[in-house]
Amino acid sequence: MLFNDERKLALLASWIKESGYTVVLTGAGMSTESGIPDFRSSKGLWRNIDPSMVASKYALDNNYELFRDFYTMRLENLRGCKPHEGHKILADWERRGLVSCIATQNVDGLHKLAGSNNIFELHGNIRTIRCETCNNAAEIKEFLERKPCPKCGGKLRPNVVLFGESLPYEELENAIQAISKANLVIVIGTSLQVYPVNQLPDLCKGKKVYINLDVDMHNHQFDLVIKGSARDVLTRTEILLKGLNEK
Ligand code: NAD
Repeated sequence: MLFNDERKLALLASWIKESGYTVVLTGAGMSTESGIPDFRSSKGLWRNIDPSMVASKYALDNNYELFRDFYTMRLENLRGCKPHEGHKILADWERRGLVSCIATQNVDGLHKLAGSNNIFELHGNIRTIRCETCNNAAEIKEFLERKPCPKCGGKLRPNVVLFGESLPYEELENAIQAISKANLVIVIGTSLQVYPVNQLPDLCKGKKVYINLDVDMHNHQFDLVIKGSARDVLTRTEILLKGLNEK
């Protein structure tokens, strides 16, 4: 493990046990241990490509070849990627009433695959495809085979929020409501650089926890900052939580 101060994890476990309403907010760092690169850390996609140039409405409209190549690469990267122990622990916490919902910036669908149900996908889901022109649903296969929309001939695209597009109203609103009334918000694996999601932790009037490999870059007020990987921190916290329940 890269961290740690065992007392911080014990505190987190006790807060989770007592909270009664906990919301988890995740970012790309939640999925790196499943083999999906993030955008901004040293091995992230930003190092090779600037996603704001290619994962953008501008690229979709003006440079569709590049846009399609970028999302083809991201879809191919997803092949064989599975939820890790940390995703499964969050799903289990939901089943045990310890987590109310997950708001995620991730588009990989791994929380759902792990068994979580109350998920707000703030940036959409890359595993579904639609036509930019007529909104008709299409198959991933059609997108990967570089086909146009079977209905109108328009451009196919993943159902993700591109730079230059608004977030889905209902998902964002639900996340805002949940975080505003949460007693505990656990923020995992996000650089908190993307607006408006980076504003969400500040809405919480309860306790705020930040878990990340790199804890030097955020400027939010957190009650507890834990340096470590998502999988390790969650696994260790789960052991302590089970210990608390046995007492
Ligand atoms: P980001 O790349 O800006 O930041 C990721 C953060 O996670 C970094 O601070 C990094 O230090 C940390 N991190 C990396 N591995 C970690 C680990 N194992 N445990 C804990 N922390 C770890 O990601 P972001 O803040 O989510 O940026 C937002 C954008 O990135 C979103 O639009 C999102 O859709 C997109 N994105 C999503 C995926 C995905 O769906 N898996 C992947 C790449 C990018």
